[in-house]
Amino acid sequence: MNTKAVILIVDDVPTNVQALAHLLQEEYALKVATSGVRALELAGQDPIPDLILLDVQMPEMNGYDVLKSLKENSVTAQIPIIFVTGKDTVEDEEYGLELGAMDYITKPIRPSIVKARVKTHITLKQQHNSLLEMATHDQLTGLYNRHYLSDVLDKKVSQIKRHSEPLSVIIVDIDHFKKVNDTFGHLMGDQVLQAVANVMDASARKGDVAARFGGEEFIIVLDNCTAQDALVKAEKLRSTIAALHPQEISVTASFGVAQLEDDTQRYEDLLKNADTALYVAKEEGRNRVILYEKKAL
Ligand code: GH3
Ligand code: MG
Ligand code: MG
Repeated sequence: MNTKAVILIVDDVPTNVQALAHLLQEEYALKVATSGVRALELAGQDPIPDLILLDVQMPEMNGYDVLKSLKENSVTAQIPIIFVTGKDTVEDEEYGLELGAMDYITKPIRPSIVKARVKTHITLKQQHNSLLEMATHDQLTGLYNRHYLSDVLDKKVSQIKRHSEPLSVIIVDIDHFKKVNDTFGHLMGDQVLQAVANVMDASARKGDVAARFGGEEFIIVLDNCTAQDALVKAEKLRSTIAALHPQEISVTASFGVAQLEDDTQRYEDLLKNADTALYVAKEEGRNRVILYEKKAL
């Protein structure tokens, strides 16, 4: 990782902030706050901190309350927190750790200890991030993987039911891909997959999820999107892929589109419907988009 890790320093006494900043500014990118409210603001804004050094005793909103609020917000809940405080009874430390702090440093701070603890927690955070990245993404294309897709689609389906908003999926399967491998070799095949994946990634809006579902099969989940809008989107993708010629190879793909129908549908049914439409697209000659319709199919 080339960019510096980001640390948020929170303390109501400016000289305390300065002392910590002085120690850490060379190795890390710093954000500073002198109140709990400001800390919550900065913690939720890009760049999201990799670690927070949090004073306990502050007027208005103390460190314990800041920590509780951070844990309640999904954007900030995973940020590791180290309490830096003048309170140093065992009970204080216990309470802080019980609330979910990673570690505890007492004032007056000892520079070598602060540096070492910060370094340990930043390393742990970075290892956690890269494990999470590996667990949720496909290595070849960088898109989300099947495991993540199933997880997120399951959650979206239950959310959407509560809010009665439309949810659609597009399933994409590259046409005659076996022939690409057979003719140009597996490595070239991989590069074609990457190029097609890039097109899908680029077309995804915020909130959409583009995933590699299997070998040469992809799924795009479209939030708040009707089947009609999904059709338009799929048709755009179809023509973009047909015009792409990755590695000078002519490639097309077939598309199945389906919208979540009613309260009783599970995400597996939605995928199955999209897959049924995809099958029809293949049967009818490939390089086309087909919408799943209950009666027609
Ligand atoms: P259709 O139009 O019916 O979809 O035909 P197809 O040849 O695309 O479908 P089929 O399912 O018969 O073959 C898919 C091929 O995709 C076979 C497999 O070797 C290839 N494949 C799967 N994963 C990868 C991969 O990661 N890299 C490469 N290069 N090829 C892959
Ligand atoms: Mg195929
Ligand atoms: Mg296939």
